[in-house]
Amino acid sequence: MPGTPLITELRAALGADAVLTDPDLLRMHQRDEADLCAAGTPAVVVRPRTTEEVVAVVRAAAGHGVPVVPQGARTGLAGAANAVDGAVVLSMVAMDEIREIDPVSRIAVVQPGVVNAALARAVAEQGLYYPPDPGSWESSTIGGNVSTNAGGMCCVKYGVTTEYVLGLEVVLASGEVLRTGRRTAKGVAGYDLTRLFVGSEGTLGVITEVTVGLRPAPEQSLTLVAVFDSVASAGDAVARIAAQGLTPSLLELLDRTHLSAIEAYRPMGLRTDAEALLLAAVDTGVRAPGDLARIGEVCTAAGADEVYAATDAVEAAALLQARRLAHPAMEHFAARTYPQGNGGLVIDDVAVPRAALAALLDGVARIAVECDVPIGVVGHAGDGNMHPNIVVDRADPDSVARGRRAFDEIMRLGLALGGTCTGEHGVGLLKRDWLAEEIGPVGVRVHQAIKSALDPAGLLNPGKVL
Ligand SMILES: Cc1cc2nc3c(=O)[nH]c(=O)nc-3n(C[C@H](O)[C@H](O)[C@H](O)COP(=O)(O)OP(=O)(O)OC[C@H]3O[C@@H](n4cnc5c(N)ncnc54)[C@H](O)[C@@H]3O)c2cc1C
Repeated sequence: MPGTPLITELRAALGADAVLTDPDLLRMHQRDEADLCAAGTPAVVVRPRTTEEVVAVVRAAAGHGVPVVPQGARTGLAGAANAVDGAVVLSMVAMDEIREIDPVSRIAVVQPGVVNAALARAVAEQGLYYPPDPGSWESSTIGGNVSTNAGGMCCVKYGVTTEYVLGLEVVLASGEVLRTGRRTAKGVAGYDLTRLFVGSEGTLGVITEVTVGLRPAPEQSLTLVAVFDSVASAGDAVARIAAQGLTPSLLELLDRTHLSAIEAYRPMGLRTDAEALLLAAVDTGVRAPGDLARIGEVCTAAGADEVYAATDAVEAAALLQARRLAHPAMEHFAARTYPQGNGGLVIDDVAVPRAALAALLDGVARIAVECDVPIGVVGHAGDGNMHPNIVVDRADPDSVARGRRAFDEIMRLGLALGGTCTGEHGVGLLKRDWLAEEIGPVGVRVHQAIKSALDPAGLLNPGKVL
């Protein structure tokens, strides 16, 4: 619809090169990486470069009563970035400037389209560290990370994105520009509006600038692998490591399905006969060799049949790379299992208290049998945050129905164990019912009140979260 008054207005405000209506591009911007989630076709994709341009887009869309769907790199795994029919997709990728790195205050100020790894590398050059490291760090954006409150592998020691967001600039649905938070080491003025927008998945405002806190670069880490003949024993080892007061900087679990999928995708000599593998790292400086040895002992006591340390940084990096390949390897596995493009993955993101991890893992194995679907489990075990990956045949409605049943059973189990329906991927479209279940009617009403106070016409990323 190149000629609509809204598109003419957008072209006048942003220039024709930032207002895209090519049907291939519209299709490309329909969805994120989540499988089996509804997605519409946007009327237009805009790529603003400044806050003023974002204001112009939000005001123009509001004037025409058209929804706005913010997007980063579309690596999301909950359908939160999926377009709705006729929407303006607000792609933030062109706002990719690192505006400031201040080693004294240990902060950086960035536009939302900066890619996570680009920020991590830029601050590392100044001896600093931006910890949040989602597996998608080479492509996902800081704006997307903030909007989903992304986690990653280092979160077991360093915490998730919200721990590092000090302040935001946000364009509200009204077109007003709100500044939240601070640049100072401390600051408690007013309600914590910064945290309100972290994890809000584009439903409360469009983030146009982020001030993040940084840490000094960590010590070199040492890495260990523990091999188990049962997934639940690996889960038990995680609880024991925490109970010993140890502070690994990484504690990841891969089950047999994932080990085999990774070996088939990119052979690297992983033990595919093992039921589970724990990957642990410590970065505690002079104490690191001792801490690593204690983690190894705990794993052996929990039933590991082999424990070995990476001999050097190259081997450690290869092990980390194997973990990072889990998602593409499982997509490859699904494609091999159900060829002709029919292999689908429903990715769960349940998090439970660490003490309940073994029970969760046992339960997922039982659900796989009951629902008769292959489920591989991988995840940030140290956080109790697991990603059961349910493999379905998209061409077979019965397979899809069994996959969805397994997804729901895992959610139910996670909540019954005192957990949450999403540890890091967000609610999006995939977990809306389960969010309501988790927070209850009062929680739902408070969410709705906040949404209608900030976006009374419901035009910002409609249908997501609640
Ligand atoms: C291989 C792979 C590995 C992954 N590993 C992890 C992991 O370890 N941990 C983890 O947490 N996630 C992981 N993810 C999921 C995903 O990468 C994260 O959710 C990421 O934060 C999304 O960033 P994005 O830039 O792609 O945002 P998108 O997917 O484009 O958008 C995500 C949400 O943010 C909103 N949004 C984006 N930018 C803005 C903005 N400027 N203002 C307002 N709203 C905005 C969107 O509307 C949407 O609701 C992984 C994904 C893949 C494909």
